[in-house]
Amino acid sequence: MYSAYSADQIVKTAQEIRPYLAKLLDAPTAQQVDGQLAHLLSQASAEPLATEQIVAVLSQHELTREWLRRSLEENTAAETILKSLRTYEPLTGSHNPIESPHYVCPVASCHQEWYRRDSAVETPRCPIHDVRFVRDSKGH
Ligand SMILES: [Zn+2]
Repeated sequence: MYSAYSADQIVKTAQEIRPYLAKLLDAPTAQQVDGQLAHLLSQASAEPLATEQIVAVLSQHELTREWLRRSLEENTAAETILKSLRTYEPLTGSHNPIESPHYVCPVASCHQEWYRRDSAVETPRCPIHDVRFVRDSKGH
């Protein structure tokens, strides 16, 4: 369905989304999708079908599908897409992992962050400063 887009654009989107998968999907799914993308990206220059498969992989999940659409149709930068997806509400009203409570390192200059996806899990500590993450008061 994205046949109007060049292989280069699709490859670029796949490369851009990989660092953000953990924020878009639950951990096992993010890992699985990242593995699929890594494999397909390694083939994309030689194998035209690989870009179609990249589109198929990203279309399986609502937030990655939305990301793909915005990146290809609107040529939106990754950080901008991430910001807008944080407030994006799926029409289905299904559980949206991106709405998980956001935790940050209390050290102001530190950019370590963590998303609570399971209320039973203890809040982890910043791997750099060894202080416990705090709930981000700014909301998402
Ligand atoms: Zn820190």
